[in-house]
Amino acid sequence: MPGKINLLSSFFLIIGLLFNATTWAEDCPRHPQLHIEGGTSFEIQETCRSFEKIATFFARMGIQADDKLTLHFKDIVYLPGENESTENRTAVYGYFDTDTREIHLMHFQSPAQESRSAWGLAWTNDLASSFLLHEMTHLVVTSFLGADFKRLARPWHEALAYAVQLELMPVALQKEVLSAQKDLVADPFTEVRSINFMSYAVDPDSFAIRAFIAIQKWGGRDFIKKVLDNQIPGTEEE
Ligand SMILES: [Zn+2]
Repeated sequence: MPGKINLLSSFFLIIGLLFNATTWAEDCPRHPQLHIEGGTSFEIQETCRSFEKIATFFARMGIQADDKLTLHFKDIVYLPGENESTENRTAVYGYFDTDTREIHLMHFQSPAQESRSAWGLAWTNDLASSFLLHEMTHLVVTSFLGADFKRLARPWHEALAYAVQLELMPVALQKEVLSAQKDLVADPFTEVRSINFMSYAVDPDSFAIRAFIAIQKWGGRDFIKKVLDNQIPGTEEE
């Protein structure tokens, strides 16, 4: 009965189309302007969850996280600005494009992540997902500072992104990271000016831990708000 089969398959096709249209329109039901391209269902779920965490974190300091954002998951992500023909291009976890308000992120389990580790830990979905928090912090910070976002020195953009990433990552993961990096935990930055290009460039992993612990000691969320309000001398671009 070929007629019946055709009818059935077109029925399923229509259901399929409707289903796709619905899921596409609601990447994150509570954030209709947030679009996710190329993500697996798990990555989409983690993206929405991360945005909620970031929005709640910044709302407590009176900053609203604008959800106008597009996120692209890819097999590999290179540093922006590197020409496609450049040899030895630098693969990165991801980055936030300040011009287009887009985050480009490598798939959590992309083969390109195989040799990846951070803070001495093996690469896991939780670790990968925590970089969503990092990139989304860049988004909120640059939105809040507006046209003036370059006023805050680049290493400070990174210090804030790492501080929020480490604070909001799952508690069990945070414990693992900190216990794997006990020496750095015991040796946080002691001066605002120590958060600079040199300390960042030498080793971003160490920089992240030392900045996170320092920012916690200096007041955590309150301190971050003061940095954003330009009340902490030494955080501005020189
Ligand atoms: Zn960053």
